[in-house]
Amino acid sequence: MTKTQHPDPSSLCCDSMRAALQLDCESHDDPFDCPDSLIAYNEGLDQFALIVHDGERHVVLIRYCPWCGSSLLRE
Ligand SMILES: [Zn+2]
Ligand SMILES: [Zn+2]
Repeated sequence: MTKTQHPDPSSLCCDSMRAALQLDCESHDDPFDCPDSLIAYNEGLDQFALIVHDGERHVVLIRYCPWCGSSLLRE
């Protein structure tokens, strides 16, 4: 089974978001270490963010899916 950052990928808005949250890189376990990784999901806060690959764990929170435009905020 492919590892993913999200506990319930079937609840995600689209295949592009599912793919972005998969941890399928053989070289990096941590999405912040992998230059191919675009999105970080914070399970505790239920927030999605763009990873800023500047060597630190910086993110830019996003409220809408960059691919399909669905709202990522939970009621
Ligand atoms: Zn990688
Ligand atoms: Zn989407």
